[in-house]
Amino acid sequence: MNYTSTRNDSLSVSSAYAIANGISEEGGLFVPTDIPEVSAEFIESLVPLTYIERARKVLSLYLTDFTAEEIDADTFGAYSTGFTHEKVAPLVNLHGNTNILELWHGPTCAFKDMALQLLPYLLTSSAKKTADGKEIVILVATSGDTGKAALEGFKDVDGTRILVFYPSDGVSAMQKLQMTTQQGKNVGVCAIKGNFDDAQTGVKTIFTDPAVKAKLLSENMAFSSANSINWGRLVPQIVYYFSAYADMIASGQIKNGDKINFTVPTGNFGNILAAYYAMKMGLPVNKLICASNENNVLTEFINTGRYNRVRQFHTTVSPSMDILVSSNLERLIFHLSDKGSAETAELFGKLKEDGEYTVSADMLGKIQSVFSAGCCNDCETKKTIGETFSAHNYLLDPHTAVAVKVYNSYKESTGDTTPTVIVSTASPYKFTPAVLEGLGKSAGSSDEFDMIDAVVSHTGVPAPKKLTELKGATPRFTQTVEKTEMEAVVLSMLGI
Ligand SMILES: *Cc1c(COP(=O)(O)O)cnc(C)c1O
Repeated sequence: MNYTSTRNDSLSVSSAYAIANGISEEGGLFVPTDIPEVSAEFIESLVPLTYIERARKVLSLYLTDFTAEEIDADTFGAYSTGFTHEKVAPLVNLHGNTNILELWHGPTCAFKDMALQLLPYLLTSSAKKTADGKEIVILVATSGDTGKAALEGFKDVDGTRILVFYPSDGVSAMQKLQMTTQQGKNVGVCAIKGNFDDAQTGVKTIFTDPAVKAKLLSENMAFSSANSINWGRLVPQIVYYFSAYADMIASGQIKNGDKINFTVPTGNFGNILAAYYAMKMGLPVNKLICASNENNVLTEFINTGRYNRVRQFHTTVSPSMDILVSSNLERLIFHLSDKGSAETAELFGKLKEDGEYTVSADMLGKIQSVFSAGCCNDCETKKTIGETFSAHNYLLDPHTAVAVKVYNSYKESTGDTTPTVIVSTASPYKFTPAVLEGLGKSAGSSDEFDMIDAVVSHTGVPAPKKLTELKGATPRFTQTVEKTEMEAVVLSMLGI
């Protein structure tokens, strides 16, 4: 299996090359040239397997230049010890045929761990095949959860350095504390004055700057990316859509072959794109429902075909979805385009120049045949947390609450009763202020740990130890810089 670029489809590279390099030279994203197809028997065979075994079967379809031993060792390293739930990604029934796929039992309590516990292994395996002993420098822009998950994944991994930039006012207090207290000898963390898109644009600029690249080369270093533009971030996420479907068969909710819906709380379009790949591979899917917060650029796009990033940026209670430029949408557009990379390059050129683009009616039709979209504001999000807890004794984090709200509206307006999996992306204990408000309770204090205690005492839901043990920890990284200073920070952190 080979990979090409969304902006240059004459390119053909291996998965190791795509993962080690992160982004293609001309700025495009790596995509598989042919999406592998699986049979009903393949899906049936997943039912009795553990998560690690399911991961091995799905990943080996994409990482054809990896040996079976590498895939075995990499998946074992990623999922055998870091997750507190034996099923890694358990499926929980909420009510009727509505289910929650909990993706936050990893070390940082958000779904980013599903990919970022595996990526360092994939990347070091890839680098062995392609990068001749260079030190890999991972640059990350984060809206909160990626940064911490990447830091945990790469901490003290030989041959790697990791530097994380986050918007100083765009992450939750818990997310900030998780990052600024990060341990490890190869890590760096820095806040920037700006929003997530500023951080992401800054990282992309440094990444593609030939002068910086040359400077790194002269030190025997090379950049790679742990953002969801890296194929090594996306491919692990395909696994849990198959895993959820297998668990639906196992619980008797569906028969193999029955279609289901997935509702995904979406920011950069990575998570829901992984669901799209799963569907293209043959997973029986009815609709992929894209849920956004007030930054509803994707809702408008899926409903009208016009992507317009020139709009007010909202800081919401679901900060990991506060994104106006959803990078992974580029991959979907490429796959749906008959004209391939020329059309993709043109549309994303327009996005950069004019801040917007509109897809053809033909492409919009293809998008709407698979995707449905909705959005919800903070007030509705908090209300959904309260209502879901009262009705089903299940505690949602704000990101998952956006998905639940959007799904409920979808179900009401369409009458669609297809069995559904709502993807849950974070532990509620990462976002206690909004959770408490949603429950209509107060901690009587703005201290993060008092709020955790208050949620525990109101709901009886245990808080993850990984979060409670941060109490009293002293921040190691306290630097805040202008977005124009990011390049200087990178060079100084690398000591070059
Ligand atoms: C990153 C994140 C999202 C958005 O996922 P994308 O892949 O960027 O669409 C949603 N919820 C949480 C908690 C996240 O950390």
